[in-house]
Amino acid sequence: MTSPLNISKNLKTILQTIDNKALEVGRKEGEVNLIAVSKVKPAEVIAQALQAGQRIFGENRVQESLEKWPGLKNKFDGVELHLIGPLQTNKVKEALPLFDVIETVDRLKLARFLAREMDATGYSPDCLIQVNTGEEPQKTGVLPDDLDDFVKSCLEEYQLPIKGLMCIPPVGEEPALHFALLREMARRNGLQTLSMGMSGDYETAIELGATHVRVGSAIFGERPPPKPA
Ligand SMILES: *Cc1c(COP(=O)(O)O)cnc(C)c1O
Repeated sequence: MTSPLNISKNLKTILQTIDNKALEVGRKEGEVNLIAVSKVKPAEVIAQALQAGQRIFGENRVQESLEKWPGLKNKFDGVELHLIGPLQTNKVKEALPLFDVIETVDRLKLARFLAREMDATGYSPDCLIQVNTGEEPQKTGVLPDDLDDFVKSCLEEYQLPIKGLMCIPPVGEEPALHFALLREMARRNGLQTLSMGMSGDYETAIELGATHVRVGSAIFGERPPPKPA
């Protein structure tokens, strides 16, 4: 069990590392946002990070988030919750009121459902497009060759509030190549937000322009391995 002291200390260390790295590569302090990835962690543990002042969080499952976050959002002001895992179309209705940013728009059917529900409900969280930069068959995300057309459809046909891109580089590959590719794709599409970098590579991501880094285990400790399906 991680003690409150450790979570708060881990957060401080990471925020300091983020600012140092930003300054080192000629960026401004405070330009890079830390998303604390709290998937699998119980609400009591997340509350320790909230008490330490952290406000931006990432979760990868809608159902788990519905169980943990309405209560936490009631108790703590100014929370910004990001969905960083796949979104099924049948979960869109429940996801919209809870998440402030949906980072994983990855197919036209989902874009269509999001647009329809945003119209119907008035909730319109910022959206990022997940790009499968490694073109891995088992991973979700828009393929790099399809991205420009996809951005155009999201913005023009569906009028989604698309702010930027996110990626998860393939395990075992040099992440810098993927971060550089994502930055270039955002640039040519006029998008500002770049969600990239995790516990092991967030400094590299900052060097390559990340506006948001998603850090889990370096804050909350190692997660247990996923249960077999
Ligand atoms: C779990 C997860 C992270 C955080 O990973 P760590 O290695 O624990 O920092 C970041 N992004 C996504 C999409 C994740 O699912």
